[in-house]
This record gives sequence, C-alpha cells and structure tokens, in this order.
Amino acid sequence: MEQPVQPRQRPAQGRPILLASSEAHPLIKTGGLADVAGSLPAALRELGEDARLIIPAYPGAVKRLREPHSLCELRIPGSRGPVRILGGRLPDSEVPTYLVEAPEHFCREGNPYTDMSGRDWGDNAERFLLFCRVVARIGQGLPALDWRPEVVHCNDWQTGLVPALLREQPGQRPAVVFTIHNLAYQGLFDRATFDRLRLPTELWSLHGLEFHHLLSFIKGGILFSDRVNTVSPTYAEEVKTPRFGCGLDGLLRDLGGRFQGILNGIDYRTWDPASDPHIAQHYDAEGLHLKVENKLALQREAGLPRNERALVFGYIGRLVEQKGVDLILGILPRLLVHPDTQLVLQGAGNPAIEEAVLAAAERHPDKVATFIGYDEGRAHRIEAGADTFLMPSRFEPCGLNQLYSLRYGTVPIVHHTGGLADTVRHAHPERIEDGTATGFTFEPANADALWHTVREALLLYRERPDLWQRLAINGMRGDFSWESSARHYQQLYAAAVSEREAALPAA
Ligand code: ADP
Repeated sequence: MEQPVQPRQRPAQGRPILLASSEAHPLIKTGGLADVAGSLPAALRELGEDARLIIPAYPGAVKRLREPHSLCELRIPGSRGPVRILGGRLPDSEVPTYLVEAPEHFCREGNPYTDMSGRDWGDNAERFLLFCRVVARIGQGLPALDWRPEVVHCNDWQTGLVPALLREQPGQRPAVVFTIHNLAYQGLFDRATFDRLRLPTELWSLHGLEFHHLLSFIKGGILFSDRVNTVSPTYAEEVKTPRFGCGLDGLLRDLGGRFQGILNGIDYRTWDPASDPHIAQHYDAEGLHLKVENKLALQREAGLPRNERALVFGYIGRLVEQKGVDLILGILPRLLVHPDTQLVLQGAGNPAIEEAVLAAAERHPDKVATFIGYDEGRAHRIEAGADTFLMPSRFEPCGLNQLYSLRYGTVPIVHHTGGLADTVRHAHPERIEDGTATGFTFEPANADALWHTVREALLLYRERPDLWQRLAINGMRGDFSWESSARHYQQLYAAAVSEREAALPAA
C-alpha cells in the first residue's frame, strides 16, 4: 500500500502544479481544451512554476510522448488490472507529463470520447472516474513520483470528480482549481451509473453530484473546488444567466468572487505565419502582400478556381449546433451571387451538418470547398490562405480560431458573444484608423444579422482595400500570447491555496 508523502517545502523552481485534462496537444486533440492543456503548463514553466500535465494514455498519446518510462503501478477501484503511470515529456516542450495507462479504459484509437459512429462510449463514466481517482491519488502524494502538487488544476467534466474525491481527505488535499472550457458538456449519467461507480452515497444529493436526478461530473468540479474559472470574462458573465447557464447558472452565481473568467492565450510557436511549417509562403505584418500566395495555394488544394481577386471565407471547427454553421449555409444563396467569393470549410461532427456542408460544395463546386475530418496542417493553410474567417458561434466560451485568424491577418467575422466579444473589435471606420478595430462582429445569432455584416465586409474589401489591410494589420499586432493568461492563472492558484489553507482545521 502506497503511503502518502508529506508536503514538501516549496522547491526553488516554483509552485508544483498538476494540470489534469482529458486531451492535450500535440498528444491528442479534439478541440480547444487540448490547445490550452498543451500550452498553459509550458507558459507557467516559463514563469518559473513547476507545472506538469496528466492525461489518459490513449494509444496515440503514448506514441507521441517523449522519453516515455514507467513510474509506478497502482491498484485503483474500477480497474481489473493494475494502473500504470508513464512519465515523459511533451514532444515540443519540456513539460513533464504523466500518462495514466489503463488499457481496458483508454486503449482505444480515434476520438477519445466516442466510438467510430460518433456515439459516446458506454463506459465513459467508468473511464473518467478512473482517471479522476488516479489524479486524486497523485494529489495526495505518491512516493514513486517523488513530487507532490500544491495545486491540482482540473479541466472540464472529465476531471470534475477529482475535487469531489479530494474533499474526502480535507487534511491532506492540495488546493484545487476547476476550469470550465464549455459548460454545455457536463458529463451526465443516470442513477444506475452512480450506483455502479460505488461513489460515496452521500454524494447523491442536491449539495453533491446529483443534478435533476442525474449524476453530474461537472457539478463536482464547480462545488468542490477552491476556485472555478471559465475561459473568457464575457462567458463568465453569460453563464451566470439562465440563457447560457445550462441549468448551472444558480450554482455559478453562488460562487461569487470564487468564480471568474480568464481569457485563453494562443501558442505563437505553433501559430505564427512568419514561421509556420505548414504554409506555402511565410509573411508578417510588414509583408502582408505575400499572404496572397497562400490564397492561391489554398485554392489549388481545395480545387477552387485560381483567383487572386476572390474574397475567400474560411471556417474550421467542430460541426455542431453551437458553432452556427447553419447560419453560414443560410447566407450562401446571398453570398455566392457576388462574383469573386469563395468559401473553404473544414470540420467534423454532427452527420446531418456534415452532409449539409458537403451538399453545398457539390452544388457550388467552383465556389465552395468542404473538407470533412480533422487535419491540423490544413487548418493552418486555411488560416493563412483565407482573407476572412467566419465564427458565427451561438455561444463561445473563448474560441481559438478567431485568435489564430487575427495573427494570420485573416479578418474574423464573429458573433458578439463570449470570448469572441472579448477579442474582436468591430470595424467602425474611425476605429480602423486609430488601430483598435480588428474584425467584424454581429448580433443576434441569425443568418440575416450575419449577412448584414458579411456585406459590410465585402464592401470594405472591394471599395477600401487600404482600410481592409489596416484592419488585418491591427489584428496581427494584437498580443494574445499565453504569458499574460498564465500570470492570471498564477494569481488564481495563489487564491486557491489561500482558500484551502483557510479551510484547514486549526492545528
Ligand atoms: P472548441 O474547443 O469548441 O472545439 P475552439 O475554437 O476553442 O473550439 O478550439 C478548436 C480547436 O480545434 C482549434 O485549434 C481548431 O483549429 C481546432 N479544430 C477544430 N476542428 C478542426 C478540424 N476539423 N481540423 C483541424 N483543426 C480543427
């Protein structure tokens, strides 16, 4: 039986922080969470913190881990065999990384949450509870790791039971921070699943994990953490309202000052048109005229007619209702009658939306190109080759593609919501001139409002190329690097540590 190690003095190299996530780029990625989990620990280490990462050992992640080595084996309830912890580093940074190897649970190729037909795995509750149990064990101190986190930073529902499990050990637990990357994904399961998981029965209550007669993983994160945040200030306000709160707005309001929004950063080592290995022609704000080479390359790749004059719209993202792709389809008849317009879409998700975007490309082969699937390299080429990027998301916790677009001089057109509202400033002529406007924003989220703004963009592109270029350069000059976000997280961790200390029983 492993004995918990005692907390050590804070080492000279900074606060020990364990970031737990169900995905992390470049080991495994389905969305923005992976970008954050891959970048934030590296940014924290740059600031001197001893940040480390833990994710499940999916086959692809094991293959990509640098310097993999076995650290220890644990007996964890819910696993028939021993669970192994692999140590290593992320491929593109020095971040020490732990992989939780439980073959029954995680040795599955492809999307980590769904089977080949896109349905959630039937044992997701068991899989991620096991992951949570291992994270909680490390949080209490595992001698084999010779390292004990002072803060455990959990992310999204898959890690929501870590704070609940750690609350069982009030004296020894680390401080816990929980980040909501998307409140709409809550990890809800039926009562029979709760019983099967053999969680402490007292957790089945209004003040525990029960949510409208279901087991809610995300509620564990919200209720039992020292600090909770989401990924932009505007989304943090929105989720406190019934409209965006997915039934949890009351709980979030109750957190008061323990809940806030911290905007994500982006990784400029990966997303920089001046050095991006995926794109045909490098460029920067001074050499923006070179960007057109990427447009021509994208037209070739997408099988669209070569046309320098075309205003090329880009879209990359999960094809789900949230992202508002139906609004894009809704404006197509109006958009495509304009000469010299093209649209390149890439995404995967809901089969009905996939079919609809494929059908649009079939109907307009000289104007619309659709790529179904996930392709990191092509995502970079669309960012570099498009002139403007559409993000009509109905809600958007932070959004990363508008930030990539800003960096690539690809003027974003976004719904004024969540992180999109926090990062894109509308192109009022005087704001373009004074350098503060960076794109176009519209509301409400419907096709007419989108069309109104797209027409405004078309007009500016055609009639005032000088202002369009200014707008693109304004965006390129913005700074959304991880450094400032990581500093906010440092403050959040410090607040969580104080909160936990205040909660400790007096010695
Ligand atoms: P979400 O997390 O809701 O999916 P974000 O905008 O926060 O949305 O992050 C999405 C991330 O996933 C971005 O890095 C985006 O480029 C990437 N992405 C989404 N779909 C694809 C795809 N089909 N191919 C390549 N990258 C994709």
